[in-house]
Amino acid sequence: MEAPRERTAWLQGGGAVCRTPPRAVAQPSRLVLLGPPGVGKGTQAQLLSAHTGACALSTGDIFRIAKSGTVEHPSPAMRTAVACMNRGELVADDIVLSLVHERIRCLTCRGGFLLDGFPRTVAQAEALDQLLQQERLHLDAALCYELPAETILARLTGRRTCRICKAAFHITHHPPKIPGFCDHCGAPLVLRADDEPDAGRVRMAAFLKSTAPLISYYRGHGRIRMIDASGTPDDVFRRTLATLHPTVATR
Ligand code: AMP
Repeated sequence: MEAPRERTAWLQGGGAVCRTPPRAVAQPSRLVLLGPPGVGKGTQAQLLSAHTGACALSTGDIFRIAKSGTVEHPSPAMRTAVACMNRGELVADDIVLSLVHERIRCLTCRGGFLLDGFPRTVAQAEALDQLLQQERLHLDAALCYELPAETILARLTGRRTCRICKAAFHITHHPPKIPGFCDHCGAPLVLRADDEPDAGRVRMAAFLKSTAPLISYYRGHGRIRMIDASGTPDDVFRRTLATLHPTVATR
């Protein structure tokens, strides 16, 4: 799998610009990825990013960077957000929405976008629709990945994430070439605090309560595409492309 795109504008916010922005394309892909924690959205977002050239934009990555201590003066709102994340709870809509507003240029980017982990509530989905409408942009589809609960739990506990570039691995399904270290940048791989079993259960409950209603929201708008997330990442990606054809163009 290719290294994730650089995404400075998204990861840092505050007017930061990407050194290598995505190439402007005639038919940019604009997609939302939905599904329970551990279903493999992040991996599919990385594969779609390599396929379409659009950036995979994860709101979770913004909070993880704030948590890593590389942000010099995190705001009180950001500290509250990181505490929520550590417990596996959702961060309040107003905090998430202000971060996304601050990064509007990533949504209007001529390379398109692949949103992973946002929106996570109906209020966030409505706000995203409003933003896109104001910018005269159209969401191609909301991809919803489905998997039985016991398979998800096994995936969550085996997941390892690069501390620096945030690439995702799995100790059995997608192991790194050198155990414990990232294939792309060589940094150590870590078990996310929110992948620990207790936080994992809280995250699953948050998904069922707040995020699952988004499936009806996007179904009501005729934009939902349900995808079976069983099998290898390549199996799931083949299904993803088949579902999207001919909506999504290759870069
Ligand atoms: P993720 O990497 O998408 O699983 O996100 C990790 C954590 O960040 C979540 O468990 C939440 O605590 C927080 N988070 C990320 N995105 C959102 C969002 N759109 N709304 C609320 N909380 C979020």
